[in-house]
Amino acid sequence: MRAVMRIGVAVLAAVLASSVAIAPDRVMAAQAKEHKWAVVLHGGAGVIERQSMSKEMDAKYRAALQTAVQAAANVLDKGGSSLDAVEAAIKIMEDDPLFNAGKGAVFTAEGKNELDAAIMKGETMQAGAVAGVTRTRHPISLARAVMEKSPHVMMIGAGADQFAASTGLEQVDPSYFFTERRWQSLIKQLKKESLPIPPRPAGAPPAPTGGMAEIEPPDAHKYGTVGVVALDRDGNIAAGTSTGGTQAKRWGRVGDSPIIGAGTYASNQSCAVSATGTGEYFIRLTVARTICSLVQYKGMDLQAAVDEVVQKELKAIHGDGGVIAIAPDGQMAWSFNTPGMYRAKVMEGRPVEVQIYGDER
Ligand code: ASP
Repeated sequence: MRAVMRIGVAVLAAVLASSVAIAPDRVMAAQAKEHKWAVVLHGGAGVIERQSMSKEMDAKYRAALQTAVQAAANVLDKGGSSLDAVEAAIKIMEDDPLFNAGKGAVFTAEGKNELDAAIMKGETMQAGAVAGVTRTRHPISLARAVMEKSPHVMMIGAGADQFAASTGLEQVDPSYFFTERRWQSLIKQLKKESLPIPPRPAGAPPAPTGGMAEIEPPDAHKYGTVGVVALDRDGNIAAGTSTGGTQAKRWGRVGDSPIIGAGTYASNQSCAVSATGTGEYFIRLTVARTICSLVQYKGMDLQAAVDEVVQKELKAIHGDGGVIAIAPDGQMAWSFNTPGMYRAKVMEGRPVEVQIYGDER
């Protein structure tokens, strides 16, 4: 099918070049625009089960995934870049308290929100990443600024926030990221682990007086890292991931999401990947780059490559989580070894697919 398209384009280019004197770069552009855009995203993987999800929450997550994937699709449909699409969709999910990214991020054991993000551009293999930021409203935009406006690939902590402010990115009080749901979830976990309960963060709204019933939703989901991979009409792919990390993390812990090649990777030579799950395992297996290497050097189909790493290699070391992936030829894939993964995908001319549980595969 791809070969047929390529021959078709080549014949068209030859006819155009011989009949009218069209500049070679115009012919190239016509070739490039043959790509159909596509986007795949995730909103975290984990023990996400039908029986423990209320109808309302199920509907809320599906609507949020739909909104985010639509935002990316709108960018791509207008001929926008995969990088712009990735950033647009992730910003929406960072603003949505349902997800463990930006507002609604999980808390560290010390009661703070420390945010990580990364972005990578497949065309040039430029990348930007940040870890442990506490004041930048959109960590994904900061990762992009690191890539585009600094000579570096990765920045951490207060320095990264300072750099964000210097590039004009919106700064917020750390309490902006607070949500009651994540706070109660932290307290529950700390009690279980017999760890000290930190004071309620300064600037957080007063504790609800009506008990847990007031906290929407009452269940304690700690998942919700977000990631997007996209292919634009020029045939360029990109990947981005944003997270609050793992709940009750300590000592400045950083997971896989901002580690290029582990939680995030993109190269036009192979594929773009964003991962979610317990980052310690994803770092050790350099999951994202390993998947793309299987595509590039072993000629594997994208779905076979993601399954190989997630269902075999990751499982073998007891790693839990999943990935989404896209290739420049339009292949889209996802794979997870947890009960569920919030996810959505769409390709130009096809309906949007939104799924949550394992049995929807
Ligand atoms: N991968 C993220 C981390 O380890 C967490 C997640 O995806 O749920 O920081």
